[in-house]
Amino acid sequence: MTGKPNHQLKVIHHFINGEFYPGSPQEWGEIIDPSIGNAIAQLAYATNEDAQVAVHAAHAALPAWMDTPPASRAKILFRWRQLLEDNQQEIITHISREHGKSTTEALGSLMRGIDVLEFACGIPNHLKGEFSVNVGRSVDSFSLRQPVGVVAVITPFNFPIMVALWTTSVAIACGNTVILKPSEKNPSAALLLAELAIKAGLPKGVLNVLNGTQEAVNGLITHPDVAAVSFVGQTSTAKYIQETAIRHGKRVQAFGAAKNHALVMPDADLPQTVDAIIGAAYGSAGERCMAISVVVSVGDVTADYLVKHIAQKAKTLKIGAPFDGGGNDSQAEMGPLISHPHRERVLSYIKKGITQGATLVLDGRTQEIPLDGYFLGGSLFDHVTPEMSIYQEEIFGPVLCIVRVKSYEEGLQLINNHPYANGVALFTRDGDCARDFCQRIQVGMVGVNVPIPVPVGYHSFGGWKASSFADHGMHGMEGVRFFTKLKTVTSRWPSGIRSGIEFSLPTVE
Ligand code: NAD
Repeated sequence: MTGKPNHQLKVIHHFINGEFYPGSPQEWGEIIDPSIGNAIAQLAYATNEDAQVAVHAAHAALPAWMDTPPASRAKILFRWRQLLEDNQQEIITHISREHGKSTTEALGSLMRGIDVLEFACGIPNHLKGEFSVNVGRSVDSFSLRQPVGVVAVITPFNFPIMVALWTTSVAIACGNTVILKPSEKNPSAALLLAELAIKAGLPKGVLNVLNGTQEAVNGLITHPDVAAVSFVGQTSTAKYIQETAIRHGKRVQAFGAAKNHALVMPDADLPQTVDAIIGAAYGSAGERCMAISVVVSVGDVTADYLVKHIAQKAKTLKIGAPFDGGGNDSQAEMGPLISHPHRERVLSYIKKGITQGATLVLDGRTQEIPLDGYFLGGSLFDHVTPEMSIYQEEIFGPVLCIVRVKSYEEGLQLINNHPYANGVALFTRDGDCARDFCQRIQVGMVGVNVPIPVPVGYHSFGGWKASSFADHGMHGMEGVRFFTKLKTVTSRWPSGIRSGIEFSLPTVE
């Protein structure tokens, strides 16, 4: 972050009221391509005044948009969806350049975002209320869901398009207007998302993008005209956002960090389990809130097999920039970490793991990667114990821990005692064991032989405990509930009104 613009670099602005808006920046941040470690653009950070402009635009657009029939809103969402597919190459390029994700990962994240947009296209159906005839004599009752109003959506760096679509598409479908504040590390995909929405016919001011960091966020979450805040990011930020926004009277959903376990039973199909764990632990360089970062192995025989085969395969992962020198897909399986400080943080955990007594079976630091960016090979620790920081804390990098337990029960209790509870996976062939696990595990999203159980768009996403400070999950009907207010109407008409004053609440006689 600097107090002066760098005139050599392209400046990325906000997108407010249907057009790019320069604002009045006092600070600029660099957008760094993590594959090369160099700045490729700079971002004008929003001031509190810029946040006011964005909220004003969203507030002005609200009455007409909430009055637009849900089916008409859906028609625009259908066109938006098509434009996202038509422009997928440009979107993938933004994600891969600014985040470092492999192109396959970037495309996958776009598709999982579109999955929720497709759910949002069914909004006329999702907003259907309930109707009861004759709740009292000649009295009818119906419920309806109405938009909450202006919504602030604050998203993390690791899924620049997917999380933005999971939240904004449902919020907009429900009749709200939105200010999206993407991560300052990779805002371009979110800006393109908003531009395409306008091209699809979304009225100006319904979806705005405000760039920046704390000042931008504070301007949004304390603004009297913002009704709800949807946040995804680290747990410390989630807590801050939740507490501040609630103090200012907002409805809030705030999703935080994770430490996801895979519990592997001796009867599991072990070759399949190894493949599943490799993808879930090292994919996207471990920078996924649903990444498997701990394998809990039941029995030493199972653990020895897993350690040997995971280490063998992780060593051969193709690590590299998403694009080759000619700008073509490099076919890399794992890209760089997001930034130099983040790489240093991950390295510090590898050092802590060694100091605290875990066995470093595969050392990602020794993998030779002939590139200048923030790359790190996959690491594997065996004999990790619950008090170690590599077990307790989210590393958010390609570092996998193996914890050995003697029984299913011990593994279940270990996972249930962890403060984070986003996702979990069980690997087994035993249906009884799987059923018991699904009932008793204290985690929000559960996979059975599925390593990354991210729910599809028409189900809902959300962790438990320190992974989520939200009463409603993201997308699916939980998303519709979060972005709407329930109203219940009780009515009767003159022919049904009996004469005289009534002092009691209507009851059924
Ligand atoms: P982060 O908390 O640093 O940033 C998230 C957003 O908050 C960004 O837009 C950022 O600009 C803003 N922000 C950061 N610090 C702030 C502050 N002090 N005040 C106000 N705003 C602030 O998170 P990140 O590093 O971008 O993302 C990685 C984290 O997100 C990981 O912990 C990961 O587990 C988590 N995550 C969680 C989920 C989930 O659904 N639970 C999904 C994806 C990522």
